[in-house]
Amino acid sequence: MYRTHNCGELRLSHLGQTVTLSGWVQRTRDFGAMSFIDLRDRYGITQLSFNAETNPELLSKARELGREFVVQVSGQVVERSSKNTQIPTGEIEIAVAEVTVLNAAKTPPFTIEDQTDGGDELRMKYRYLDIRRKPVRDNLLLRNRVSLAVRNYLSEQGFAEVETPFLIKSTPEGARDFVVPSRMNPGEFYALPQSPQTFKQLLMVGGMDKYYQIVKCFRDEDLRADRQPEFTQIDCEMAFVEQEDILQTFEGLLKHLLKSIRNVEVANFPRMTYDHAMRTYGNDKPDIRFGMSFVELNAIVQNKGFVVFDAAELVVGIRVAGAANYTRKQLDALTDFVKRPQVGASGLVWVKYNEDGTIKSSVDKFYSDEDRAAIAAAFGAAPNDLMLILAGSANKTRKALSELRMHLGNALGLRKPDEFAPLWVVDFPLLEWDEDASRWFAMHHPFTAPKPEDLHLMADNLGAVRANAYDLVLNGSEIGGGSIRIHNRELQRQLFEILGFTEEEAQAQFGFLMNAFEYGAPPHGGIAFGFDRLVAILGGHETIRDYIAFPKNNAGRDVMIDAPANIDSAQLDELQLRVVPVQQKQ
Ligand code: ASP
Repeated sequence: MYRTHNCGELRLSHLGQTVTLSGWVQRTRDFGAMSFIDLRDRYGITQLSFNAETNPELLSKARELGREFVVQVSGQVVERSSKNTQIPTGEIEIAVAEVTVLNAAKTPPFTIEDQTDGGDELRMKYRYLDIRRKPVRDNLLLRNRVSLAVRNYLSEQGFAEVETPFLIKSTPEGARDFVVPSRMNPGEFYALPQSPQTFKQLLMVGGMDKYYQIVKCFRDEDLRADRQPEFTQIDCEMAFVEQEDILQTFEGLLKHLLKSIRNVEVANFPRMTYDHAMRTYGNDKPDIRFGMSFVELNAIVQNKGFVVFDAAELVVGIRVAGAANYTRKQLDALTDFVKRPQVGASGLVWVKYNEDGTIKSSVDKFYSDEDRAAIAAAFGAAPNDLMLILAGSANKTRKALSELRMHLGNALGLRKPDEFAPLWVVDFPLLEWDEDASRWFAMHHPFTAPKPEDLHLMADNLGAVRANAYDLVLNGSEIGGGSIRIHNRELQRQLFEILGFTEEEAQAQFGFLMNAFEYGAPPHGGIAFGFDRLVAILGGHETIRDYIAFPKNNAGRDVMIDAPANIDSAQLDELQLRVVPVQQKQ
């Protein structure tokens, strides 16, 4: 038997017992006559003590144990003379009577403790060592708890988990597919699913009624910080539902997770239209843990001779409470921030409501005391408040102001990881016009149903048609999104036509779905949650990579196994593939 207990288990109540533990040597402390070792496993750390007086031979053996050696020890549980209140086992130690080395270890390339000296890439390369560290291990265990809680809730609600295939067909909509060559069908390729969307809809046609799956999805997108080419979704679909049924069911899921994982109770989630979110926060996934909502100022500030404002489609600002004492330097830094190409504003106007009641601005030349008082009033400002204003074309300016708002939210510590502020964003536009491609794109995906009350706009005002789609937003992240689906063949055909598919293309790509709609498709709808992000937020962090056992780096590489990699020519031949060097490509 390797162990009677684990390394996180023993307490004062075990005093006097003879126990056996197995684990890794985290740290050795040698005091001549005494030596101590911290023995670690998944469950915790237990101190081992070796005493020269009682067992000199054993002490010299202990001195030979290097970091990360795997050892088995037996001995008695004794009370520690100097207790460690930081760990649950800190009141006891094992007076070791016997040690067996189960496996030696090379010196690890970084310190395997809560605080490590290892950089990101190094820890990714030796991820199996990183996983021994408590913070990483705790994240994986949290992930496990969240997935169990999801399964409990959904199965309680009558959902059945059904697996859908990974080797499917490439489709032109959405992101780029990862493709897999088929050996048995030379020249043909499977694609890895970007989501099980069409399959879950077919499960509804198949009468499964309530489906879910915690499932890997694959998107070959250009990598952005904190995006993974493979990621996990909680994918769900329900038949005979309207939007309200879905919102209720999945609001319940998030409430259940917040309660069971974080012991947080939240009130019913607010609902905000897409239009309102964009106008008030410049963002369709607003972080509503803090205010600084947008105030539009066109009516107040235009036609006073300041051409930047006069020429702007939109003049809009935010109020930063208590920040009127910002220095020139701080304001310049904010100006630099908004002028960064990623933010894209041309400048920043500030207005300070000073403590003495005076109101000053960076554009005093153009605005009288009364004008400035009117601006402050529009913001509902009080003494000590700072107002920051941007101007330009509406969409761009809202986006830039949203960046500034989030920047300040971070800088001022207003985005508290322990606070949870979920909301639904609803009434998204069905379609988005893409100037470059000069065509309509589905804002969610081509299977999303228009709102019935907007159907009459389909003929001549496509941009105004709202979708029966919804996003669940938590702390500034979209954690879930879905829609009521089209279940009518003719409407689905019409949508494909709007999206620029010919009848033949639509049939070739999605014929299986449209045909299925001819065999009694029930009304249905669903949602999918980004599981990695959800876990990260529940864990109080924003980096999803920390919550994935074996993540890819920012270049989409697995640096541990070194993938992607070349395959040998025999394998290529078998697949009837040829690698063409870049310079030979047309
Ligand atoms: N399949 C969609 C997605 O991955 C979610 C949904 O509509 O259910 O975004």
